[in-house]
Amino acid sequence: MTIYDTIIIGGGPAGMMAAISSATYGQKTLLLDKNRRLGKKLAGTGGGRCNVTNCGTLEELIAGIPGNGRFLYSVFSQFDNQDIIQFFEDRGIKLKEEDHSRMFPTTDKSSTIIQGLVNEMKRLGVTILTQTEIVSVKRPEKLFVLKSADQTFTAPRLIVTTGGKSYPSTGSTGFGHDIARHFKLEVTPLEAAESPLMTDFPHKRLQGISLDDVTLSYKKHVITHDLLFTHFGLSGPAAQRLSSFVSGGETIYLDVLPLKTKQELEAFLEEHRDKLLKNALKLLLPERLAEFYCDNFPEKPKQLSHKEREQLLEKLKNMPISVTGKMSLPKSFVTKGGVKLTEINPKTLESKKVPGLHFAGEVLDINGHTGGFNITSALCTGWVAGSLHF
Ligand SMILES: Cc1cc2nc3c(=O)[nH]c(=O)nc-3n(C[C@H](O)[C@H](O)[C@H](O)COP(=O)(O)OP(=O)(O)OC[C@H]3O[C@@H](n4cnc5c(N)ncnc54)[C@H](O)[C@@H]3O)c2cc1C
Repeated sequence: MTIYDTIIIGGGPAGMMAAISSATYGQKTLLLDKNRRLGKKLAGTGGGRCNVTNCGTLEELIAGIPGNGRFLYSVFSQFDNQDIIQFFEDRGIKLKEEDHSRMFPTTDKSSTIIQGLVNEMKRLGVTILTQTEIVSVKRPEKLFVLKSADQTFTAPRLIVTTGGKSYPSTGSTGFGHDIARHFKLEVTPLEAAESPLMTDFPHKRLQGISLDDVTLSYKKHVITHDLLFTHFGLSGPAAQRLSSFVSGGETIYLDVLPLKTKQELEAFLEEHRDKLLKNALKLLLPERLAEFYCDNFPEKPKQLSHKEREQLLEKLKNMPISVTGKMSLPKSFVTKGGVKLTEINPKTLESKKVPGLHFAGEVLDINGHTGGFNITSALCTGWVAGSLHF
């Protein structure tokens, strides 16, 4: 039986970066994952293009991680989003910035990022075992003993990067929380975060339409970001971010043209008064949405009564939508809650109670917005957990 210096359970972004860092520090490193391929969840981010990081400032990064982002100051002082960008550039993988400071590989392919991480692990001599599900972890003496169905692995240092509990089909089924509990570490309640919203909206008709930078609001929470109409309601960053403040039974408001005031829209209707209303609105909105906004209004802007004009402007700028619920944890993008941060040394990500036991990535009680914030947290905590701190 080979004894490793460091074993990592979970080959998502946190685990792969932890393996790279650990091997860079000269550790004999083993990375285990139960899937056939590494980075299954990462592959699906950014619509399959891999939203590998976010190039915002430190303050923007922390603000993009509403679930305990402040815990990451020490981590980011060791390895941050600029280090992620440099890491990939140094290995010949160019990244590009898109809206909202989101970074993607210029190839627009997740496989570029995943292969880049895998190549680096191989170059550094990391042993990678896929299709290996760990079912128990014990520490009878000073070594961790891990068991799969038919193998045993041993090391003095264990890094747990098993992810949260959302999208369990990608492998993240909460095993890391069981490890934490086994070692008597507290785990905060697990909840859905970045959840798509179910609404009473006429889904079928608008399904598939995506909008850039619209405003969704609920009480004092006003979010301007991209939105996607789905068969069940609303998804995309605007809906997902608002999901922190609603659970079902609330009315939220949609402004599809936040950059235009009501006065500007009134002038626009006047300018196009002789056109078909639907053709006028098509200049501002996708065709199917323009048709939806024309429902129950006269054919041409010039035929609108004062009241109808007001109603149309109100619909465009402030349309009420009833939220009937939000997606459950397995169908939400991110898990809120996880290994309690007071259990963890913020400089090393090692358990304060169990020497040699580290946690990184979404298994921790840290959750960010989609847009690269979770992946940044995973890659940076992975690097720090894998590092040796002298
Ligand atoms: C559809 C979707 C889109 C997303 N988009 C974005 C986005 O745009 N921006 C963003 O920042 N975040 C996004 N996220 C969230 C982001 O992908 C996760 O936060 C991130 O992948 C977490 O990384 P991780 O390494 O901690 O865990 P994971 O990526 O979940 O990896 C955990 C790994 O551990 C393995 N594992 C678990 N248990 C065991 C076991 N017992 N034995 C062996 N292996 C095990 C799993 O197989 C898995 O490969 C998205 C999530 C989803 C589902």
